Amino acid sequence: MRIAGIDITVDWSLLIIFLLIVWGLAAGVFPQWHPAWPPLTAWLTAVAAALLFFASVLAHELSHSLVARAYGIRVRRIVLYVFGGMAQIEHEPGRWVAELWMAIVGPLTSLAIGFLCLFVGLVGVAHVDLSSAASVEHALVGLDPARTLLLWLGQINVILAIFNLVPAFPLDGGRVLRAILWGATHDLRRATRWASSLGQAFAWLLIGAGIAMVLGFSVPILGGGLINGIWLAFIGWFLNNAALVSYRQLLTQEILQDVPVSRVMLTHFEVVPPQLPLETLIDGYMQRSDQRAYPVMGADERLIGMVFQRDVERLTPEQRRTMTAREAMRPPEQITVVRPDEDVLEVLNLLAQRDINQVPVLDHDRVVGLVRRADILRWLALHNAPKPTHA
Ligand SMILES: [Zn+2]
Repeated sequence: MRIAGIDITVDWSLLIIFLLIVWGLAAGVFPQWHPAWPPLTAWLTAVAAALLFFASVLAHELSHSLVARAYGIRVRRIVLYVFGGMAQIEHEPGRWVAELWMAIVGPLTSLAIGFLCLFVGLVGVAHVDLSSAASVEHALVGLDPARTLLLWLGQINVILAIFNLVPAFPLDGGRVLRAILWGATHDLRRATRWASSLGQAFAWLLIGAGIAMVLGFSVPILGGGLINGIWLAFIGWFLNNAALVSYRQLLTQEILQDVPVSRVMLTHFEVVPPQLPLETLIDGYMQRSDQRAYPVMGADERLIGMVFQRDVERLTPEQRRTMTAREAMRPPEQITVVRPDEDVLEVLNLLAQRDINQVPVLDHDRVVGLVRRADILRWLALHNAPKPTHA
């Protein structure tokens, strides 16, 4: 699916959260609010509520993406997954003002959706007495499915906005904090370190509270309960990871920026002629090296294709015996290539984005090297840098 030129991907894990929301609403929340509703009404309203919830998460992510684009940052795609959404941007914003707006627009969007839903849902409802939980519940009992749905959607969006505004990097609030620290110190690395330390502290707080709840204690604001505790600890663990990864990513980015491909590429590699029998390529080359992709070169030393181990693994014994390198290769238009003067950071992103292990380096149609993820990791290790945990 594409919206405003941005690819929208739905992760399978979203199905679990979808079922949890539908089940929780149809079997838990709605029967409590509306004991008189027939089950079908409850289930249909729950499905509609879950779908609209995802639509509002998508709107939150789209708002991040559109602001990013307004600042000239390309947005690859938006992935909706178990914890909501994530917009994958090509690189970090170069200025703190851009980061600030990019980060804060998401929670603002959620807040706007939330208050709009609450407003529309409550318009015309006679005097809701908000003074006590019992009186609110009393007002809810008389509501029709549409209003019920709007009220639930409204409050969940407000909760989403508030959670995202917690100043724990890489949550939106943490990004806002980082932008402000960055603006104050003019040092992105230090700002990121502080923001992600705070993010980790918050994550450990959640984990602690979660464990306390699992052990039967009641925690202020959050309450208690085994399932709630497990969820909370899980979210904390996830946040802690995210904070660590984001900081390491930044270090890797700083180190790899402005390093040209020609400095990390593999220059000792085998190339094969098109008429080479595939059997020879398998037994004499692939089996004896860890090179997994072989450039096929014509007499004029130009690249005419590439044989990938991944493709060879799928061939039948008969095909392996009878084919040549030319027949087994992929033509140039199916191969991703890079230039020797390109940024290694771009190549690392490219490898992750296309889910490939290596790219040939082409200088005016001639293959001058191969870059694999392992080569980039080796470069990082030799230059005393942390390993990237993403990509
Ligand atoms: Zn956000």
